[in-house]
Amino acid sequence: MKDYVSECQQMVKTQLEARDIIDPRVLEAFSRVPRHEFVSINLREGAYVDYPLSIGEGQTISQPYMVALMTQALQLKGTERVLEVGTGSGYQAAILACLAGEVYSIERLPGLAEESETRLVRLGFGNVRIKVGDGTKGWEEFSPYDGIIVTAGSNQVPEPLLQQLNDGGRLVIPVGGEFLQDLKRVTRKGDKFVQESLGGCRFVPLIGEYGWREEVKN
Ligand code: SAH
Repeated sequence: MKDYVSECQQMVKTQLEARDIIDPRVLEAFSRVPRHEFVSINLREGAYVDYPLSIGEGQTISQPYMVALMTQALQLKGTERVLEVGTGSGYQAAILACLAGEVYSIERLPGLAEESETRLVRLGFGNVRIKVGDGTKGWEEFSPYDGIIVTAGSNQVPEPLLQQLNDGGRLVIPVGGEFLQDLKRVTRKGDKFVQESLGGCRFVPLIGEYGWREEVKN
């Protein structure tokens, strides 16, 4: 049996702290969430490597550093209401659950949504609510959000997500082409939206009304 606890500590040290992840709360969350629980048994061995991991149905969890970079960009203090688009395995949602008050997460593939819901309950992350649907339209019922994170690559910034952002709230989203995107942070200041670029990235496509309109190849 592998020593996942020490692998996890190593990951935090060499992949996150050694780069530019400096928020102590973010580092603490990554050392608490057991990443190997979010992948199938045959992929567990490599759960803490510096790469994305397959989670089935052609989807992936990003490399730990990318999850951390996006999380840090949300600047969470502990009481926020956060929306995630693209639940996937539930790993990012679990990290957010450690750092915010309430987490809402939307996944378009029912199989993945169901699995991650069961997993998060089993692991004791009680402050996450998941639904199946098109996350490009947001989740109006619980808006406005202090943070919104989109974990699939879009061709545009979905307008409904901007509308569901609280004043001062941050939206972190990869925007660009089918294969390469630019990670953007959009901060709402009243009626204004200030955009910053956080670097290049590569995500599976965000498919929906305000994203890619059809299935594109991953
Ligand atoms: N955050 C996930 C990884 C997400 S991979 C994790 O931690 O494991 C991207 C996910 O976005 C995929 O599961 C894909 O099905 C989903 N997705 C793509 N378009 C979507 C949309 N419009 N609404 C909700 N989920 C979407």
